[in-house]
Amino acid sequence: MKADKIFKNAKIFTSDKNNPQASALVVKDGKFVYVGDESGLSEYEGEVTDLGGKFIMPGIIDSHVHVTIPVGYEYADMGERIEPNGKQEALDMMAKYIRENPGEKRYRFILEKKFLKGEDIVKEDLDAICPDAELQIQEGEGHSIWVNSKILERHGITDDTPDPIPGLALYVRKDGHVTGNCIEGAAETPIIFDSSIDLTDEQVDAALKRWIDFSVEYGVCAVFDAGLPGTSQFHEKVYKRLAELDKQGKLPVYVDGSLVVNAERDAKEGLNEVKRFNREYDTEHLKVHTMKIFMDGTQKIHTAAMVTPYVDVGTTGATAFSAEGIAELLKDLNEAGLDLHLHTVGERASRTVLDGFEMAKKEMGNSLKVRVTCAHLEIEDDSDLDRFAKLGVIANFTPWWHSDDPRESARWLGDERSRKQFRCKTLWDTGALVAWSSDNIAFGDFITWNPYLGMEVGMTRLRTDKTRVQEYNRTAAVFPPEDERMSIEEMLLGYTINGAIQLGIEDIKGSITAGKDADFLVFDNDLLTAEKEGFSYNKPKDVYFGGKKVN
Ligand SMILES: [Zn+2]
Repeated sequence: MKADKIFKNAKIFTSDKNNPQASALVVKDGKFVYVGDESGLSEYEGEVTDLGGKFIMPGIIDSHVHVTIPVGYEYADMGERIEPNGKQEALDMMAKYIRENPGEKRYRFILEKKFLKGEDIVKEDLDAICPDAELQIQEGEGHSIWVNSKILERHGITDDTPDPIPGLALYVRKDGHVTGNCIEGAAETPIIFDSSIDLTDEQVDAALKRWIDFSVEYGVCAVFDAGLPGTSQFHEKVYKRLAELDKQGKLPVYVDGSLVVNAERDAKEGLNEVKRFNREYDTEHLKVHTMKIFMDGTQKIHTAAMVTPYVDVGTTGATAFSAEGIAELLKDLNEAGLDLHLHTVGERASRTVLDGFEMAKKEMGNSLKVRVTCAHLEIEDDSDLDRFAKLGVIANFTPWWHSDDPRESARWLGDERSRKQFRCKTLWDTGALVAWSSDNIAFGDFITWNPYLGMEVGMTRLRTDKTRVQEYNRTAAVFPPEDERMSIEEMLLGYTINGAIQLGIEDIKGSITAGKDADFLVFDNDLLTAEKEGFSYNKPKDVYFGGKKVN
């Protein structure tokens, strides 16, 4: 048989459990036609490359990342980052900046809540330093914002404005009055993102080009885009450009898209929109078949939904959907042939999804085909750990997060629970399908988008001075539990075939298997035996997407 490319004398990690190792592969018309040992090559003619023992693996799949949010952030001025010592210093720093930069329409700052040392900012504080212009302070994680009265007025937010999702997406109130602190869904567009709607096609393309170049350089061949809450208009604008770039042959990354639905009451309308996206965005490398739901928020601002209350504030947070709501939604998604992906940080968020799935499964049995993925899974109740495997719910982790100082989260989780986070190995060993991701929301320098960083921290639960990561992201000790550290083989499988199963593309991608797309990476060194600390410095020498060398 005439083939396009023949590679021999390689060490191939295939991610194919029926044929885990190979030394030769043959590519024809963008697909693998042979994967095995060299004795099988005699049937093929074509350009032969002797790889001299080099390591080959399938193209990487990042199964939870944000493609559209960062395009907006590329052009949105988020403002000055401040690191004060307490509230008064924060106000002084902002007042000084405002004095030195008079005449701006809106002043913007970024501030991590921890710098307030337990105090909170209210709109009266901000009105005092900025009475005549708009002032916003985005919390470092991007899940909440403080604004002054001018911004509340412009967006028509008063004491009578209902919370978007009570207990989860809300305007913080004191004695019935809004304080200017807006949480989760209440902090989103148009407050943060309103300027991005007007970007030109050229501006969107330029941002996407930066991301495509990164993906190609690092061998990320497919991603799940976990959506953009708050503005489906801007989200769709980026998908339009992705579809256009694909038609022009300029999208050498497979993008599995999604559309965010905010609350249970929006489910029916949201479903129709996902169906429309599914019809309208369907090019070779762009598909949309998934609804995305933010079930809860984050631990730091106590919006992650818990089974056991936060030890510092005594609350448990709330979920965007009830278990019954999830069960109902699964019936509709099943009928439409669509899938479901959920942001689930706290114990109660994932439990509610598992409960809903169980209800739907009881009623529908094996006719329930929806692929359901719970992402982040920072903390799980012990009694839920084996339910993912039993029910067939996919577990998605962001391994570069799996290193932290548990003393910080002990403030709200207590000592014992803070040392039982990110239990990915336990889930893996129950037989659950575990996939890995990077979950970034801004392009920046792409440091934390690097899948080899995820692999390193997944294996070590440490970020040392040998790790390719920003200095402030380094940690001094292994993040407990130590036995949740993964092997390199588990990291590679979770970044390839398991991600493909989550995306529903395991028939065409995710492993080096005859008949699948020839997405594969060639490394000078052997990743299976590479040093774990510093693994984040790995990078492929050659990247093939659909049989074509793209890097
Ligand atoms: Zn995300």
